[in-house]
Amino acid sequence: MTRVIRDVEDLRQYVTMARRNRFSVGFVPTMGALHEGHRSLIRRSWTENDRTIVSIYVNPLQFLPGEDLDRYPRPFEKDVAACTEEKADVVFAPSVQTMQPPGRSTVVKVEGVAHDYEGRARPGHFDGVATIVASLFHLVQADRAYFGQKDFQQTVVVRRMVRDLQIPVQIVVCPTVRDADGLAMSSRNVYLSAADRAEALRLPRAIRAAEKAVLAGETGGDRIRSILRDALASPRQDVRIDYADLVHPDTLVSLPRLEGHGVVLAVLRVGNVRLLDNAVVAPPGTPAWEA
Ligand code: AMP
Repeated sequence: MTRVIRDVEDLRQYVTMARRNRFSVGFVPTMGALHEGHRSLIRRSWTENDRTIVSIYVNPLQFLPGEDLDRYPRPFEKDVAACTEEKADVVFAPSVQTMQPPGRSTVVKVEGVAHDYEGRARPGHFDGVATIVASLFHLVQADRAYFGQKDFQQTVVVRRMVRDLQIPVQIVVCPTVRDADGLAMSSRNVYLSAADRAEALRLPRAIRAAEKAVLAGETGGDRIRSILRDALASPRQDVRIDYADLVHPDTLVSLPRLEGHGVVLAVLRVGNVRLLDNAVVAPPGTPAWEA
């Protein structure tokens, strides 16, 4: 049975006992509204660790003013049921008061890799992510923490932070889980109407087109970027490309030419919904990429 823990002291006790028993601990941080993407992370953690802790926390610090913090879906009972089905040991669901006690004034700010792309589109977003993920890492003391490749820049930011702050946790990046039509699963897909969803499918198709071009031998950065942009272009005024680029997987620097691994990274805005997708690409014959 999955245990729901809300208080820091109870979590600390659980973690202390797990450590005393020499259990390895896997950690899956989420904002809830769990779907198959989240479940795949929980399953991976379950196979690799003795104990799995899932956090469910809609982190106000990572939302900008005017974003969907208030209407973000919070189906808590359903989420706990999903965690039980996936055999998670603990759901850690702290209140905002718990994570942000009045007067909290420490911010974790990752420079460089957090600057462009999502960092530019959502100023302050990664400060909010890094600040809370650092707190959670200190509380949970996991051996491994599981993140989805869908949020590629987030995985790079978290890895950078873990290295810089020397937090003893291994970051495991798991493949993007998609719906049957190809759209990457996201808790925000519920905001899309049927017509919006049809537009949204430009995104996985564009990523796929870029992947195919690379597999066919294309290595020119500008060529790959224009393949992405052409496939994303829509006659609808409210469907806009936030960014579409080919970048280095560790530094996120835009690549003039694909020599080893690269990441095709794009965000399409459909109405008010921002959709993220990416794929790691490399010229044929390149050894497999490891995060
Ligand atoms: P969120 O609840 O959106 O903060 O996501 C929690 C974790 O689940 C993050 O590491 C996400 O990258 C990951 N995640 C979200 N959607 C997917 C997906 N479609 N496939 C794989 N992982 C995902």
